[in-house]
Amino acid sequence: MGPSGSEYRRVPPIAVSSSSTLVNHTGSWKYIRPLFQDRVAPCNAGCPVGIDIEGYMNLLREGRVAEARDLLLRENPMPGVTGRVCHHPCEVSCNRESFDRAVAVHAVERMLGDLAMPEVPLPAPPARNQRVAIVGSGPAGLACAYHLAGLGYRVTVFEAATQPGGMLRLAIPEYRLPEAVLDREIERIRARGVEIICCVNVGDDLPWWSVRANYDAVFLAPGAHRDRALEVEGEQSRGVEPGLKFLEDVKRGNRPNLGRQVIVVGGGNTAIDCARTAVRMGADCLVLYRRTRAEMPAIPDEVEEAEREGVKFEFLAAPVAFESKRGRLKAVECVRMRLGPPDASGRRRPIPVDSDHFTLPADTVLTAVGEVTDLAAVPQDLERQDSALRVGAWGETSGVRVFAGGDVTDETRSVAHALGAGKRAAIGIDRYLRQAAGEPVEPDGLARLRYGGSGNVSITRWRGDDPIQRASPTNDVVRFEDLNPSHFQRAARRDDRRLHSETARSGFTEVNLGLTRDGALEEARRCFNCAVCNGCELCLIFCPDVAIARGTDGNRFDIALDYCKGCGVCAAECPRGGITMTRAGL
Ligand SMILES: Cc1cc2nc3c(=O)[nH]c(=O)nc-3n(C[C@H](O)[C@H](O)[C@H](O)COP(=O)(O)OP(=O)(O)OC[C@H]3O[C@@H](n4cnc5c(N)ncnc54)[C@H](O)[C@@H]3O)c2cc1C
Ligand code: SF4
Ligand code: SF4
Repeated sequence: MGPSGSEYRRVPPIAVSSSSTLVNHTGSWKYIRPLFQDRVAPCNAGCPVGIDIEGYMNLLREGRVAEARDLLLRENPMPGVTGRVCHHPCEVSCNRESFDRAVAVHAVERMLGDLAMPEVPLPAPPARNQRVAIVGSGPAGLACAYHLAGLGYRVTVFEAATQPGGMLRLAIPEYRLPEAVLDREIERIRARGVEIICCVNVGDDLPWWSVRANYDAVFLAPGAHRDRALEVEGEQSRGVEPGLKFLEDVKRGNRPNLGRQVIVVGGGNTAIDCARTAVRMGADCLVLYRRTRAEMPAIPDEVEEAEREGVKFEFLAAPVAFESKRGRLKAVECVRMRLGPPDASGRRRPIPVDSDHFTLPADTVLTAVGEVTDLAAVPQDLERQDSALRVGAWGETSGVRVFAGGDVTDETRSVAHALGAGKRAAIGIDRYLRQAAGEPVEPDGLARLRYGGSGNVSITRWRGDDPIQRASPTNDVVRFEDLNPSHFQRAARRDDRRLHSETARSGFTEVNLGLTRDGALEEARRCFNCAVCNGCELCLIFCPDVAIARGTDGNRFDIALDYCKGCGVCAAECPRGGITMTRAGL
C-alpha cells in the first residue's frame, strides 16, 4: 500500500517525465553495432553434397515437414540413399558433439528421403535448347543429370549395365541399401525429365566421337570398376576371387560356393561388404588388414555391424602367398606388419616384420584392396593425373565441352562426394553453355556458392531462388565457441533401430531400420540451428535498451541504432552465433 495522509507530505519530490525519453539518443556514442548475419553451420560445410542441413532442420522444428523435404531435394537427389550409406561427415562436424552428442543428421535425412517417395512434384524450370549427354548412371552421373534437368536442359544418361545406379546397384548389398529405395530415387530423377538409356557402353556400342558431336556438352562419370590386384604369389588359384566381382555376382542373385572358411583381404567398404555377405552365406569370415582398426577406410558403423554379425578381424597382417592343392586354395601365408611413418595418404605406412610369418587355412579368399579406373576406356585426348582424369573446380577436363566427376577423377571415393561432383559439373556445364550462348555469367562464382571453404556448393545459390531469406550471408563457419549453449538443454540422441544381429546374419533384409517419423522429428529438434537466426527473439528480450524490435519491411529484426549502445549483450546471448558486432553501418 502507498503513503497516505500526513505520510504523503514526507515523501521527497522527484522528477517525473511526462513525455517520451526517445529524444535522448543514448546510442550516439557507440563505436560498434550488432549486425544480424547468417553464417554457415559446420554440418553444411562438412557435407560433400552441399545440403542446407541447418535450413531443413529449422523447417522441421517449425513442423514444416514438406518444405523441409523440398529444401533437401533441391540439393540432394538421393536422400534415401545417402541417409543409408553416407559416412556422414556432417555429424563429425556437428557443433552438438561438443555439447552432448552430434545430431543424427543421416537419420533425419533418410526419413525425409523416404517421405519424398514415390513422387514429389518439382518446379518446372524454363526449358533450354541445349542437350547434354552423361556417361554412367552412378551417383555422380545421376546428380549431374538431375541438376541439369532442374536448370532446364535436355539430358540423356547412357549406362553400360542393364539398370541404372552404378555401384549403388551393382555392388552395395541389399541389406544396406534395398533396391526398392534406389528404384524410387531414380524414378524421381526420371520424373524431372531425365532420359536414361541402359545397355549402352559408350566407346564400344556408341563411339565417343558421336556422343561428343551430337551433344552440346558431355559429362563423364564411369566410376572405377576394376579390382586392384594384390600381386601375391598364387593369386590365380581357384578360390582367390576379386571381392567386387563376388559382390556383383551376389547382387545378380547368384550364391557362389565359398566353403567354410573365408578370408577377406582389405579394410575398406568393399572388404566389409564382402565379409558381411559371406557371413550371410553361412561362412566363417576373417578380415585381414595390414594396418590397425584406426586406419581402416571403411565406415566405422559398418565395421561394428560386421563384428556384431560374427566377422573376425586380424589387424597388422598381410598375405604373402596363397597355398593350393591341385590348383585349389588351401591356406594363406601371412606376414605380420608394424606401422612406420605416415605415407602419401597421411596414414602410417605398414612395414612387414620379415621374421614373423603365420599361416591361416582358407577355402576362399576375397581380395578387396581398392578399385581402379579403366582409363583405357575413356577418350585418350583427355589429360590424366596419375590414374584419374584431371578436372578443374567445375569438373571441366582438358577436352572442349567435356566434363567429368566421381570416382574416375581423384575425388574421395564416396557416394556423397560423387553427388557433390555431379552438382558442381552441372553448374560448370550451365556456366559453359550460357557463356557459349552469349549470356552474361559470373567469371568465378564458386566462392559465393560454397558452404564454408570446402568444395561443396549450393545449386540454390547458383539459381538464386533460395526460399529462405538470408541476413547478410557470409561464408564464415560457426564453431561451438561462437554459440551460447546456456540456452540449450541436454537431450539423448536417437540412434537408428537395427535388426538383431542373429536375424541380420540369416538373410539380406535391411539391417539399419532408421528412425520412426516421430523419432526423426524429435531428433531434428535437437539441432541448434547453428549460424542462422531462427527468430527465437532472445536478442530482443535481453537488449537492455529495448533497441531491438520485430522486423518490418522483410527484416527479421529492426535495430534502433539511435538507442543501441553497442553493449553486445544481444550477440553474447544469441544461442546460435547469428549476430556479429561490427563497425560497419555507423
Ligand atoms: C562394395 C562397395 C561399397 C561401397 N560402399 C559405400 C558406402 O557405404 N558409402 C559410400 O559413400 N560409398 C561407398 N562406396 C563408394 C561409392 O559407391 C562410389 O564412390 C560411388 O558409387 C562413385 O560414383 P560414380 O558415379 O563416380 O561411379 P559408379 O557408381 O561406379 O557408377 C559408374 C557407372 O558408369 C557406368 N559406366 C562405366 N563406363 C561406362 C561407359 N563407357 N558407358 C556407359 N556406362 C558406363 C558403370 O556401369 C556404372 O554404372 C562403395 C563402393 C563399393 C565398390
Ligand atoms: S549426404 Fe552425408 S554428409 Fe551430407 S547430410 Fe547426408 S549424411 Fe550428412
Ligand atoms: S547442431 Fe544442427 S546446425 Fe549445428 S552443426 Fe549440428 S546439425 Fe548442424
